[in-house]
Amino acid sequence: MSLEGLQFVNTDNNYNPIDLSKSFLTKKTLPNQVSIQEGFNVELFEVNKNLAFIKNFGNVAAFKDDTSALLIDTGMGVSSVQVVSKLKEWGIENVEFIIYTHGHVDHVTGTDYIINAFENSNTEVIGHKNIVNRFDRYKKTIGYNGIINQRQFGLPSPVFPNEFTYPDTTYDDSYELEFNNSVLKLFHGKGETDDATYIYSEKDNALFTGDFFIWSLPNAGNPSKSQRYVGSWGEVLKKMSELNSEYLFPGHGPLIKGKKEITKVLLDTSNCMLWIEDNVLSLMNSGHSLREIHSKLSLPPEFQQPYLVSVYDDFKFLINSVWRQYGGWYSGTPSELKPPALNEIGKTYIDMAGGEDNLLEFLNSLVSSEKYKEASVVVDAVYAVNKELFSEIKNEIYFNLSEQETSLMAKGIYKFDLDS
Ligand SMILES: [Zn+2]
Repeated sequence: MSLEGLQFVNTDNNYNPIDLSKSFLTKKTLPNQVSIQEGFNVELFEVNKNLAFIKNFGNVAAFKDDTSALLIDTGMGVSSVQVVSKLKEWGIENVEFIIYTHGHVDHVTGTDYIINAFENSNTEVIGHKNIVNRFDRYKKTIGYNGIINQRQFGLPSPVFPNEFTYPDTTYDDSYELEFNNSVLKLFHGKGETDDATYIYSEKDNALFTGDFFIWSLPNAGNPSKSQRYVGSWGEVLKKMSELNSEYLFPGHGPLIKGKKEITKVLLDTSNCMLWIEDNVLSLMNSGHSLREIHSKLSLPPEFQQPYLVSVYDDFKFLINSVWRQYGGWYSGTPSELKPPALNEIGKTYIDMAGGEDNLLEFLNSLVSSEKYKEASVVVDAVYAVNKELFSEIKNEIYFNLSEQETSLMAKGIYKFDLDS
C-alpha cells in the first residue's frame, strides 16, 4: 500500500539503528508501533563497507560489490525516490539482484521505480514461488485490499496497487546465491504468509528476517487476511536463533546487533507463538468453543517484552488464527452458525425492552457503566432497525472501544464504523 500524504525525507545523518534498538530493548514496553513510526523517513546506515541497513516503511538491506548492489526488499513505492538517492550516495550504479522476503506491498512495490532508476541494471528478482500466487490473488481483490488498508491504517480512501513486479527466479525450500564472494542462503518458512523467505549471510553473520520480526507481537492474527500461521512462525524463529547471528535486520523497526540480544528476541517470540498455538489447540481438543478460549487465555508474564506488545496485531486475534487454521470457521456457538439478519435481532431486542426509547435508555446505562462491548452487540442490531435514532450512541460506543484498545488493527476497525 502507499500512505498518501506522508512525507518521506532523508533527515538524520547521525541515525544509528543499533543504538536505537539497544534503548528499545531496555524498556518494558514500547508505547507505539515503532515499526510504523520508524518507517516514516528513509535513512541509510552502513554496517560495514559492503552492507547497509536502509530504514524505510518496509526496511531495505543493501549489499555492495564495487558499484553493484544486491537488495533485500524494496519498500513501498512512495518512498523509492529517497531509497534510490541513498543508494546513489552510497556509490551504487546498478542493481544486480533483488530478493523479496515476501510479497506484501510494503516490501515489493519499490521494485519497478528502483530498477528503472539504475539504467545499466539488468536486475534479477528472486522470491519464493508462492509470491506468484499472491500477486495473482491480489489482482482479484484490489478493492477489498484497498478497504483493508484504509481501515487498518486510517487512510482517507481505499489504496492498493494494481501492478506488481513478479520474481524472475523462484524457489521452493531453499536457495543459494553468491554475491561479492559471499554466499547468501535463502530459506522458506511460513509465518505471516506462505511465501516468506529469511536470508542468512555467513560472511557478515547477518540474518534478514523479513516480517518474522517487526518489534511488536507478530502480525499473526490480522482479522482481514487469508493467511497466518502461528505455530509455524514459532518454529521458523527457533531455526533462525540457531544461526547465532551478530546482526538481525528486521522487516520493520531498527537493526539489532549482538548474539545474546538476538537469540533472546527470537526465542521469546518463538516461545510466545508456540505457547499460543499449544494452548489454543489443547482447549480445542477438550471441546471448548472459540469464545470460551478467548475468556480463558491471556499471555503469561514472561511474554511481557517490548517486542511482544499488542500494538499492531492483537493477542486475541492470534487465538482466532489458530482456530481458523485447525478448526474452520464455525465458532462452537450454535446461534452463530446461521444467524438471522441483524435487523431481525434488533427488532427482538426492541420488543424485549418495550420500545425503541427504552432500548436507547438501556444502551445509555451500559455506556455510563463503561460496558462498551456488551453495548456494541446490542447497538449493531438496533442500528440496523433505526439508523437515525441509534447513530449517536453507536458512535459513542465504538469511539470508546477504539480508545480502550492497544492494537492498531482493533482501533482501526472500531473507528472505521463511526458515522461521520
Ligand atoms: Zn511488512
